[in-house]
Amino acid sequence: MVARALNVAQDFFHRVTQGAPRFPITIRVLKVSFLVSVLLVLTGENLNADPNLRVESIPKIAKQGDVCLIRASGPVSLESIHGEFQGERFPLAPGTQNGTYEGLIGIDLTTKPATYEIRVTATDASGKDYASPLSLKIGKAGFGTQKLSLPPSMVDLDAKSLERANREASRLKALFQTFSDERLWKGAFIRPLEGELSGAFAMDRIINGQRRTPHTGVDLEAREGTPVLATNSGIVVLVDELFFSGKSVILDHGWGLYSMYFHLSEALVKEGDKVDTGAVLGRVGSTGRSTGPHLHWAIRMTEARVDPLSLLKLSDALRE
Ligand SMILES: [Zn+2]
Repeated sequence: MVARALNVAQDFFHRVTQGAPRFPITIRVLKVSFLVSVLLVLTGENLNADPNLRVESIPKIAKQGDVCLIRASGPVSLESIHGEFQGERFPLAPGTQNGTYEGLIGIDLTTKPATYEIRVTATDASGKDYASPLSLKIGKAGFGTQKLSLPPSMVDLDAKSLERANREASRLKALFQTFSDERLWKGAFIRPLEGELSGAFAMDRIINGQRRTPHTGVDLEAREGTPVLATNSGIVVLVDELFFSGKSVILDHGWGLYSMYFHLSEALVKEGDKVDTGAVLGRVGSTGRSTGPHLHWAIRMTEARVDPLSLLKLSDALRE
């Protein structure tokens, strides 16, 4: 890519020297180096990268709440490969094409907008090491505000309900801290049902006039009883009736990725079941803290609260 960028720059230089010179040569050279810099930024190219291990992020520029696909291209004979983001290691596994490796990172909705470094390190069968950094710019996402009216008993909890809600929150937290090295998801992620988006990810919520925690999933409108499908393959790790989320199903997709399906009228799977993409997990309802039938769909990626719709945007890249 560097070579291509330089060729393009040479073409540009060639063209500007064809016409009548309108600028002194130094300005033309500056223009060319500026163009090369712009091309390098646009292509995400990093000059410190090992030429034998190329790393890219999809999307190239991320925002708060995104899941990014980190794809590396290198020797076919790699013995080990992993990435690092914000001081945490993440696994990569062979992609569909020979010599490609892919991993996922989750960017929590509160991540400070800045440029972060992702480093991918690998070792081949002969013991040779490879390391390539990638600069990933994370921008601010505009989340908006949602106003809701709910029965006061679901907002200002009595001592017993508060104790139950806290206990359930600890249980979920412990679950999301469990990291399975095995990748259970495969290929593209699907929408659990076709319904319209009625509540976007990470909106600030004002419930009965009081500011509450942001919305950490998406709400999809659907009629009571609509089948809810698994977004990808995984293992059912929770089926229960919870205080806020009502009848709930949670899938473990491996690599620290979990998907959640809340407010169901019924669950049609049990804990321990292995499910494929598109398996029917349950039916839409309005159980728990809910204003009417809908599916609250949420994703955790190594504890980061991320937008489920960002996983769907990776479909083309994951299907290749
Ligand atoms: Zn919701």
